[in-house]
Amino acid sequence: MSILIINIKELIQVRDHNVTIVKGEDMKILPTIKNAYLIIEHDTIVEYGSMSDYIDYEVDEVIDAKGKMVLPAWCDSHTHIVYAGDRSQEFVDRINGLSYEEIAQRGGGILNSAEVLQNTSEEDLYQQSLKRLNRVMKLGTGAIEIKSGYGLTVDAELKMLRVIKRLKKESLALIKTTLLAAHAVPKEFKDHKEKFVDRVISEMIPQVGQAKLADYIDVFCEKGYFDLEDTERILQAGAAYGLIPKIHVNQFNAFGGVALAVKYKALSVDHLEEMRPEDIDALKDSNTMPVALPSCSYFISIPYTPARQIIDAGLPLAIASDYNPGTTPSGNMNFVVSTACIKLRMTPEEAINAATINGAYAMGISNQYGSICRGKKANLIITKEIESYNNLPYAFGDNLIDTVILSGKILD
Ligand SMILES: [Zn+2]
Repeated sequence: MSILIINIKELIQVRDHNVTIVKGEDMKILPTIKNAYLIIEHDTIVEYGSMSDYIDYEVDEVIDAKGKMVLPAWCDSHTHIVYAGDRSQEFVDRINGLSYEEIAQRGGGILNSAEVLQNTSEEDLYQQSLKRLNRVMKLGTGAIEIKSGYGLTVDAELKMLRVIKRLKKESLALIKTTLLAAHAVPKEFKDHKEKFVDRVISEMIPQVGQAKLADYIDVFCEKGYFDLEDTERILQAGAAYGLIPKIHVNQFNAFGGVALAVKYKALSVDHLEEMRPEDIDALKDSNTMPVALPSCSYFISIPYTPARQIIDAGLPLAIASDYNPGTTPSGNMNFVVSTACIKLRMTPEEAINAATINGAYAMGISNQYGSICRGKKANLIITKEIESYNNLPYAFGDNLIDTVILSGKILD
């Protein structure tokens, strides 16, 4: 199957050389070709250029993109889309001012999500998750990371990871899997957190590692959840199975999680709503991608990640959705890009770089995804007719996507 797209008003994020990360000042630059064409063969971008250089090419299908833009599909490097049920009652309870304890009693919080998931069949969990995945793909997401973490028992975590494995096999989106065994301390370990960490290390990580069910390992490194010592033990145990860290740090409190992640060569550090100068320093000269999750800040009204400080320090930044039932029940990357511009004061160029090439880096796939480059995977968004790419963040809450192509196939 080959596809030719002609008359593209502007082809966005074009990288002739296979750039895999964009940092600091360079994030302000978004290379484009106006009035362009692009050719896909099977699942790969094979050629592109200016319409004036176009030479007739034999293809199976031609798309006329007059007035429309083409860009790489979004790369969402942080989600929890495999979950059971929803927590809309908790949303209403929070508006009504119920306390954390009252909300937990009424079925809110991670522990209750875990209970619902434990009592949901694997098939039902798959079907619920597939629906969400298909919805975000229609919204332009072409590569996505999915975490476990609502299991909290060995069996339920394995169930979640098998569901992710099946989604990986069945879906046109590229999926990376992260083991988030240490997401919350289960009720039965409330006063013996170390015993739960022991179980994560002695049972969950070895079983998941041996079954090769995860690419990455995550820890919710936060006060009241898992401290630096717990985090370090878990990252060490994961390293024995080749699980690279991508961890939740600095969401509510900054206490050294960023430096610890860098020490263990984390691929990414995610959240970062609370940043100290030493956290920024720890990221300099590292290969760790900082990741902001602006939809989460929006939904639960917490501070936004200081993107300007991070980028102005010369660092790269990725943005992701954090799609999860409690704090971000949305995986709409278009909204994430808008919110990055509106609330994080990122320029449209920075936000698009953060949601494509840097998002791909934060999943370890930026040599194949996240930019328009010959030989890279054909995961593309064709927009509706728009004035400029600035309209993508400007028209917040709107859907300006006309067509999504993933692995060289047009989504219906
Ligand atoms: Zn998260």
